[in-house]
Amino acid sequence: MRSVDDLLAEGVSGRRVLLRADLNVPLDLSTRSPVISDDGRITASLPTLQALRDAGARVIVAAHLGRPKGAPDPQFSLAPVAARLSELLGVPVALAADVAGEDATAKAGALGDGDVLLLENVRFEAAETSKDDAARGELADRLAALADVYVDDAFGAVHRKHASVFDVAERLPHYAGRLVARELEVLTRLTADPERPYVVVLGGSKVSDKLAVIEALLPKVDRLLIGGGMCFTFLAAQDHGVGSSLLEADQVDTCRRLLTEAGDKIVLPVDVVCADRFAADAEVSVTPADAVPDDLMGLDVGPLTVDLFTADLADARTVFWNGPMGVFELAPFQAGTRGVAEAVGTVDGLSVVGGGDSAAAVRQLGLDEASYGHISTGGGASLEYLEGRELPGLAVLAD
Ligand code: ADP
Ligand code: MG
Repeated sequence: MRSVDDLLAEGVSGRRVLLRADLNVPLDLSTRSPVISDDGRITASLPTLQALRDAGARVIVAAHLGRPKGAPDPQFSLAPVAARLSELLGVPVALAADVAGEDATAKAGALGDGDVLLLENVRFEAAETSKDDAARGELADRLAALADVYVDDAFGAVHRKHASVFDVAERLPHYAGRLVARELEVLTRLTADPERPYVVVLGGSKVSDKLAVIEALLPKVDRLLIGGGMCFTFLAAQDHGVGSSLLEADQVDTCRRLLTEAGDKIVLPVDVVCADRFAADAEVSVTPADAVPDDLMGLDVGPLTVDLFTADLADARTVFWNGPMGVFELAPFQAGTRGVAEAVGTVDGLSVVGGGDSAAAVRQLGLDEASYGHISTGGGASLEYLEGRELPGLAVLAD
């Protein structure tokens, strides 16, 4: 796999570089014009972008934002991202009115050395995410026509077989950006020969999203700590009442099997912060994890669980944490995520935080980002990598 540093060594001055970046930031749409609530993915994209600019490349950035339905939708315009990018770089960043149409072509053609153009949301083109190779290929042809070389730095999208991630790389000389290279280096350390004890902490909302990675990780880890909304399906598998907490009834049998096969490695919460409804001003109480009352829902792990998980992390030499322990977006349900995040941060060894919401939680709770070995920008991508699946966006860069 060639890296952007190989490209810089070749000389990139005056060449047009199509840079696929992950700029899929959370937007607060409650305000009149959308406000970026966490710009972590933009700042993570800067090193590659800046290096290309410094070397005199004409940089054309392709990115997606949210899930528009394959057609232009002003709500998902990259305009706020162009503005933030411009602020961070300290230079104007033009935004094309389309993805790879007339305006993009004109603006790309007008770039000077070191200039940056952001294409409009690639998902405004239905072909971007199409299952039809020919449809994606047609879009990839138009994207490829804008540039001389392709750099993929969108780690958060490498598990997608999308036109701007996969097909365009087949059409241009291709290189991995610095963020992709760094993510791969860390994930390789997690999979190849992790220093032990190796402890994985999983949370977040949906157990069905994460069962595959749980299956893949169980043989490799020393301990698996489970919190967040997904712990209730496991608690239900132990025949505990979970009240009105998140429960995926169709996954209970699988969780029961995992507990039977690897119960000695799986650590579940012992207490739960409950509320009578999903709201910041709800009435809050702490109950034992095996006795959540019928009329309450568990929205965070309790203080005893934080102590238990902290003890289980204390001697770890390698930690991967994905998924908040509770509904950290609401103040009464933050303590579990904060406590576990702090414990992960004090690990003496490699600590990796993966997942968009987990990374956002670290920043939102004001935790020290520097206390982690690595904060991954790609939740789905890192989980699929850890599952051992081939990621299309990486495979295509490899040859
Ligand atoms: P990541 O993006 O880090 O991979 P997920 O997307 O899997 O994480 O999950 C994040 C979401 O899980 C958060 O929005 C959080 O509010 C939610 N969550 C965590 N614990 C609970 C819970 N007990 N009940 C409902 N939702 C929860
Ligand atoms: Mg998420």
